[in-house]
Amino acid sequence: MPVQAGDRYQIESPQPLVAALRQAGFRIVGPQASDGAIVYEELDSSQSLPRGLTDEQSGGHYRLKNGDPNRWFDYVVGPQSWKKHLFPAHQKLWSAARTSDGFDINPSEDEYPKTAFFGVRACEIAAMQIQDKVFDNGQFADSGYGRRRAATLIVAVQCARSAETCFCASMNTGPRADSGFDIALTELETGGFLVECGSEAGGVVLEGLALSEATDADWDAAKAATDKAAAMQTRKMVGNVAEVLREHLDHPRWDEVADRCLSCANCTLACPTCFCSDVEEVTDLSGEHAERWRVWDSCFSLDFSYIHGGAVRTSTKSRYRQWMTHKLSSWHDQFDTSGCVGCGRCIAWCPVGIDITEEAEAMATPMETTEG
Ligand code: SF4
Ligand code: SF4
Repeated sequence: MPVQAGDRYQIESPQPLVAALRQAGFRIVGPQASDGAIVYEELDSSQSLPRGLTDEQSGGHYRLKNGDPNRWFDYVVGPQSWKKHLFPAHQKLWSAARTSDGFDINPSEDEYPKTAFFGVRACEIAAMQIQDKVFDNGQFADSGYGRRRAATLIVAVQCARSAETCFCASMNTGPRADSGFDIALTELETGGFLVECGSEAGGVVLEGLALSEATDADWDAAKAATDKAAAMQTRKMVGNVAEVLREHLDHPRWDEVADRCLSCANCTLACPTCFCSDVEEVTDLSGEHAERWRVWDSCFSLDFSYIHGGAVRTSTKSRYRQWMTHKLSSWHDQFDTSGCVGCGRCIAWCPVGIDITEEAEAMATPMETTEG
């Protein structure tokens, strides 16, 4: 019987699904522990999934720890996001070779076989949907991003716990993903997984599995798991943050946060929605060969705002304000969405523990109170 979007099943472990994806010809990229953190790399087998690991996160702090050995997905998001696969940090755009009468230009297309992202969280699906808008605004489209995105199948994992740094519930981006996936798994407290089919492509993969139909009790347990994750969240973004920031560009808090900020750009590199890039030309010493590369950049780099005569944003204060007001305020004007999904990476991976929710809350505090 064909499996259709909206169908729900029950499965004992993720192992048969990994095998079915491989059988269907997918390269699988999934979570695994490396150098003390969860990273998203090519997954050789379900044995490499970080089963039994959990994490501890707070401002400027991330540690992987041993947890319940029977749980497969009790970690939350780590330093990397899926953007490194869809929007690579280094990407060759073209190369050129000298000829007798000029140059031959060869466009560059990286290898990207059909790929399954295994273990995508709700906030990460929201981040991909934001980057979809950035890289295809209807008028200008990044063909490389579009090609990689179209060749990617999303296997979501619904969050059953939140880290101390998570605030997706206040951004309406999680912890449950209702759409944007091809297949979604929820790890149930009683053992086993609820499997949701989200698309025709997901249905084709699931048809190869021996699935039992989910009961109403399974569905209730799955919703209870994500409700519990939402209830665990202690951080939240202030509700009217776009207006708050727009109206407080001279708030004294910008000076305070600038005193702490190292302008290191970690927050932008860890952020799943940040998309700033630079273009570099590279030539060999013979002058016979040249290449153009696109590389990740950051609004925290001094040179990022360089125009003729110098940089526009020379102070850390101006760069931090640019990052935060763009992400939470003017992003709405540009892309009709917030640029933040509440994943908390910028809090955990900021070396001095600057917390975007705390900064927004402070900006919402009347200036007289802050100054007094
Ligand atoms: S700004 Fe911070 S919390 Fe928001 S999406 Fe980026 S890394 Fe996550
Ligand atoms: S906010 Fe933190 S992570 Fe971001 S640039 Fe400043 S010090 Fe670095």
